[in-house]
Parts: sequence; C-alpha cells; structure tokens
Amino acid sequence: MKRTRSDSELRSEKGLETRLNARPVSRGVAVGKVVTIHGDNKQFYRTPIRLDQVEREVARYRTAHKAAARQLTKVGTTLEYSSSSAAIFDMHRAILEDSTLSEKIESAIARNHINAEWAVKLVTDEYIAKYRAIPDEHFRDRYIDVEDVADQLQTALGGKRHPIRIPRGSIIAAKELRPSTIAELGSGHLGGIVTESGGWTSHSFILARELDIPAVTGVRKLLRRVKTGDTILLDGYDGTVFLNPEDTTISSIKASRRSAHRPAPKDVPVNGSINTLDGREVKIRANFDIAASFHQAKKLGARGIGLFRSEYLFNRFKGFPGEAEQIKAYREIADYAGADRARIRTFDLSLSQIVERSARRDKNPALGLRGIRLSLAHQKHFRTQIRALLQASVEREVDVIIPMVSCVDEVRTVRSILNEECESLRNRGIAVGAPRLGAMIELPAAVFTIEVLLEELDCICIGTNDLVQYTLGVDRDNETVANLFRSLHPSVLKALKIVLDAAAKKGVPAVVCGEMAGSAFYIPILVGLGATELSMNVNSITRVRRVIAGIAYEETRQLRNRVLECSTVEETESTARSFITDRWSHLFDGEQLVAFKSPVIAS
Ligand code: PEP
Ligand code: MG
Repeated sequence: MKRTRSDSELRSEKGLETRLNARPVSRGVAVGKVVTIHGDNKQFYRTPIRLDQVEREVARYRTAHKAAARQLTKVGTTLEYSSSSAAIFDMHRAILEDSTLSEKIESAIARNHINAEWAVKLVTDEYIAKYRAIPDEHFRDRYIDVEDVADQLQTALGGKRHPIRIPRGSIIAAKELRPSTIAELGSGHLGGIVTESGGWTSHSFILARELDIPAVTGVRKLLRRVKTGDTILLDGYDGTVFLNPEDTTISSIKASRRSAHRPAPKDVPVNGSINTLDGREVKIRANFDIAASFHQAKKLGARGIGLFRSEYLFNRFKGFPGEAEQIKAYREIADYAGADRARIRTFDLSLSQIVERSARRDKNPALGLRGIRLSLAHQKHFRTQIRALLQASVEREVDVIIPMVSCVDEVRTVRSILNEECESLRNRGIAVGAPRLGAMIELPAAVFTIEVLLEELDCICIGTNDLVQYTLGVDRDNETVANLFRSLHPSVLKALKIVLDAAAKKGVPAVVCGEMAGSAFYIPILVGLGATELSMNVNSITRVRRVIAGIAYEETRQLRNRVLECSTVEETESTARSFITDRWSHLFDGEQLVAFKSPVIAS
C-alpha cells in the first residue's frame, strides 16, 4: 500500500530549501512571507485583536456557536436523511456541545488576542491532530467530523468580521482561493498566490492576472507543508515553487525571469477604432471587475463592457444583494460603459455557493443547478435582479446576459419574467428601461441550437472558458486534467465557427469572452473565424490591440481554413504556431509564446 507522508515528515522539509512543481496561472515572480488561508466555504486567517475587543469577540463566538447548533438541528431534522445520517449529525452536535471545546476556544481568544475564526482553527486543529494519530482507522476518521463541525462554526462566524489585515507583499497559501478573498485582501497587499487546486480559467486566477499578482496552483498538500511566516518563492512563468529559498536561488530566478520577460509593448492611449491591416474593425471590450481597471481599459482602446460577472456582487455582499444595492451597482457600471453598452450577466452561481455546507450539494456543481438553472429554480432572487436591471437601464444601454443557457425554453422563460417584472414596476409607477436580452453561449447544447436561440436573442456572448470545459468534458478548475483543457481542440474550433457564422448571418452582435479572447496567440484564429468583438481584462488589451493592428483579415482567413482542416489538437496547435511564427513573430513576445504552450494549452 502506498504510504502517505505524515505532517511531521512534510514539515521536516522546513528550514531546507525545497523545490516543488506547480502550474503557473498568473505571470511574475514573487518572494515573501506566507499567510495561510483556511476554510472552503468561508476563508479566514489569523487577525490580531486588542485587549478591549476580547469580550466582544467571545460574544461573537457564542452567537456563532448557537447558530451552528441550530443549523445542525435543522439539517438533522428537516432533511430526509436516513437514520445513520441522523446519527452523524447527532455526533456533530455532541462534538459542538462538548463544553471543553468552547472553553478552549474562548480562552484562546482571550489569551492570544486573536479573532474567533483563528481560535476555532487552533483548537479544532489540535483535536484533529489527536484523532489523526489514532492507529485504529475507524476512530482516526473521526477527524473528518471535527473538521465538519469546525466548518459549521466558521460558516456561522461569517457575519461581521474584523477587517482583514495582512502585511504588504504577503504570499497567500490556500487549498483553493475565492475571488472574494482576493478582492477583500486587495491587490496592493498581495505579493503572490499559491494554491493546491484551481485552473487557468478559475475566477480567482482571472482576477489575479487582472491585478498583476503572480500565482501558481497544483501544489499537493500545500497547507501541510507551509505555515504562516514561512518564506516562499513562486515563479509564475514555469510554475516552480521554492519553500525556504536560499538567497542565491532568489537572485538567480529573478535574474533569469527579468531577461525572459520582455516588457509588454508600451501602453499607448487609443482614440479611434482598432482595425486589421486590411481595415476590418475588431472591437475590444472590457471585462469589468473594478472601476480603476475599467478607466485604464478605456484609455487603452476598450469600448464598452463585454462582461460583468454579477456574482462578484454576491461575493462582495456575502450573499444576494438587495434590489437597491443592485440598482446602484448596475447604474454605475452602465454609466462607465456609456453608449458602448454594458453586458451584465445575471448571477452565475452554483448551488454550493448559496446553501449552507451541510445542506444538499451538487456532486458535480458545473453540471448541476448552476447559472440560469439555479436562477429559475429560485426565482425570488432572480426576479429581484431583473427588477434592478430594468430600473438601472433607464436612459442607459444595458444588455442582460443569461449564463449557461442550454435551450430556447430558458430564454423564453427569462423573456416572460422580464416582461412580467417590467409591467409590475410600471403599474407601481416606477420607471423602467428596455435592456437587450442576450445569452452566454458556452454549452454544446446552445451551439447546436444556435439558430433557434438567435431567433429569440438580441445579442450573444461566447464564453470560451466554459465552452472548452463542456465541449471537451474537462473540468476547468481541476489541475489533474489541465493538460486536456485545449482551447484549439478541433471540436472547440468547430463550435466557434458554427456560432460565429450563425450570428453573422443573422446580424446578431457576438462578443467572444473568456480567457481565449484575451490571449494574444488566439487572436488571429478568432478573427479568422469571424470574431469582431472581444472582451478581456485590462492587462491583455495592449498586446491584443498590437496583434489586431499587425495582421490582415485575409491572412487570418487562411489560418482559419488551415486549422479547421486539422483532425487533432496537436495538429491545430502546431499549424497555428508555425503560421503565427512564420508571419507574425514580430507581434508576439517571449511571454506569449509561453502562454501559448501552457497552461491554457498544456503540453
Ligand atoms: C466563460 O465561460 O468563458 C466566461 C466568460 O464566463 P466565466 O469564466 O465567468 O464562466
Ligand atoms: Mg462561463
């Protein structure tokens, strides 16, 4: 039997320089002190508190403890679990109500002047370690139950918190990182990110690239190898991670990357349209994350907002924001975009993001109640969002984009909800606008019925991240299959062709979104396939613009014809690579060559 290494063996790496292999997901080199982040549902770490805050923190813990107990009772009684499941929840309650657990947590808060989350972690970690040391497998596995109880407490502590403070330049280490955690930590403070899992197209890493934070993922047992305060070096070019790096390693990695990383072409403000050499206009639109990057994107030539992922508001408000809060947010976004329009996507959440941990969860969230399916199953929140969008569209150019559409019925249902909410607002004397209705085309089901869908839609956004995921059946967030996530797979190219051809024929505006649209190497292929609008993060704009301005549409059609003839992904990749290098190597820098090979198309 394969023996797994114990925590102490893993930690014995401590002190010595240890090299680990990971996958790069955001470029750059970072070296700094680690801050570990824990929790899946709710992410937290050690925050010092003042002596005069101890009492309030203990009270906060007690309230959370009561809420967790209520939650466990609710789960144990209201859901249809078998008697053995009920026994598990009884056991969880017994762990939670063991008075020594609470005593220890409260005294950890008081003694160490730390936040309740960290005290829960310290104490439950101690219990977990004890269970894990038990030789009998049956008893040893109880540690999972303690983990579960700890998670319940952490979730219940999710209310008001101390503002997060981490030292500038910290490198955060987590199993998996949430976009809201990155947003909360703020770009200025984060030196780098290293996680156990995630993928190039995970929202967290999309955000990391947007904020220029070097990041790597795929480090196994990371949180058992590092702890807060350790020094770590991560190389976001080739994915190497060094724990406790020697000074010589730091300087040699920094020096080698300085020469490999040719600077991006200078950011030049742009006023007019962006055209290919033979005069075909390709509009660059911005993905909207934060206002500051949008202003920058606009200066660099972006016109309008190609994608606003409204679930960012869900993260920011730690739940569904109210109607008034949404109206305010959407108005602001639409004002930024002006006449060039804002494409606001309705919540693209999965069930596990909106329910308590112990309640029902989808086994395969990407294939479960996600996106529009979830919105239609829980219409209360969806209708609030639609009302907010209708009100925010007054005298503003807004497109409402529905995520994960799989059939025309969903579009029709959304259209009738829009009409109903519109009428009821009007009846109450409230002004409403007339947003256009669009859909994310990201499922093969939508690709194959695109003509029917286009009959009912005013515009479309092609979500290449999910289109690759669902066409190839490759989880975009799972590093074990990252080498199979190949954006130039012949089936993906055919899907793009079908959709872009149909949209052009019908005259329906189509924006290509997702990471493909912002990766310079894919641009000639997308343009050749007919893309005329691309939505991307601010960091991609200058490079993409330079490529568009340096290629001829006629040449891209030749490239398109060649790649469409290929029967394997190896062929399409190498055909594209040699076509691009032969004609346009002057338009691409070394970093883009790396980006082309990996990790989007891992070799
Ligand atoms: C996509 O799927 O390509 C997309 C743009 O949406 P998201 O990455 O938010 O799923
Ligand atoms: Mg998507």
